[in-house]
Amino acid sequence: MMSEYILNKDYFIKVIEDLAVLAEEKKDYFSELDSAIGDGDHGMNLSIGFREVTKNLDSWKAEDISTLFKNVGTALLDKVGGASGPLYGGFFMKFGLPVKGKEEVTFDEFIEMMETGVAIIEKRGKAKVGDKTMVDTLRPAVDALKAAYVDEKLEPKEAMKKAAAVGSAGSDSTIPIIAKKGRAMRLGERAIGHRDPGSASSTAILAIFYNNMP
Ligand code: ADP
Ligand code: MG
Repeated sequence: MMSEYILNKDYFIKVIEDLAVLAEEKKDYFSELDSAIGDGDHGMNLSIGFREVTKNLDSWKAEDISTLFKNVGTALLDKVGGASGPLYGGFFMKFGLPVKGKEEVTFDEFIEMMETGVAIIEKRGKAKVGDKTMVDTLRPAVDALKAAYVDEKLEPKEAMKKAAAVGSAGSDSTIPIIAKKGRAMRLGERAIGHRDPGSASSTAILAIFYNNMP
């Protein structure tokens, strides 16, 4: 029998470490995107949040996957002002909910975690695909993940590769449209031609989940 595909705690810890690196490396890029159609702080917001995560991560490493992500989400929620704090904070707080107490998860469980996280962003932000937000990346990506794994029967990592690509295309799709949520909403047609910053950070986050998969 084929052995089951497992994502262990080391995988998730590496993901969190890479997210913190991303928040530093792409800080200026995310803030530049936000300068065009927002208030220019998206990179700074993520950096502040993940610096708090980095400060505490060692003391969280003994926790199960669920608690680990609850701590990450709480740190973002506590430290990040702006829309992205409660949204990404909510994502990570809820991400581990389906796998309470576990030290490793199956790919079916991973998909459930992603769905739970994205659902709370949609619920809190009340944004739908086409509103020019991070949801334009995350919703199509999670739907593609399910379709690729459950329906098309792709291998887990291939399914996640597809999800990340669909999410990236979702971010591209924010460029030619007006915003119906967030600060960019006030700009009306002047938001056209600019990528939504949250959709860009979400794309980078999905790439990290993909790149670290065994
Ligand atoms: P703020 O807009 O408060 O300055 P950030 O700059 O950190 O916060 O994050 C902005 C990003 O948050 C946007 O690019 C968008 O992707 C996302 N966002 C804003 N409002 C919403 C919403 N209601 N639903 C989903 N995402 C949103
Ligand atoms: Mg901003």
